[in-house]
Amino acid sequence: MTTHAGSCHCGAVAFEVETDLETVIECNCTHCYRKGLMLTFVEPEAFRLTAGEGATTPYLFNRHAIEHQVCPTCGVEAYAKGRAADGRVQIAVNVRCLTDVEPFSLTPTLRFDGLHKV
Ligand SMILES: [Zn+2]
Repeated sequence: MTTHAGSCHCGAVAFEVETDLETVIECNCTHCYRKGLMLTFVEPEAFRLTAGEGATTPYLFNRHAIEHQVCPTCGVEAYAKGRAADGRVQIAVNVRCLTDVEPFSLTPTLRFDGLHKV
């Protein structure tokens, strides 16, 4: 596991996350596709906000199962809080917000057909 640093564009929201980036998900649902999100999911213990607690605007849609945390200043969604099928809380990290990873080194390892499953 590697500890990566990330932030929204303006820096109001910043975080550290422990992940090996083994799974990078690209989803074609109406939300992810519009934002161009590339996500990896981690346990809440592996994610630590270092700035921006309470500063984000939650965006909810469809079943309201996922709280997309949007920075009200720059509009970037650095992470979201959701629940796995078994009810466990999961953090969806927008890997495009990682500041210590070469951007073009990240390629989706999983394409999720959210458009037809959400
Ligand atoms: Zn921001």
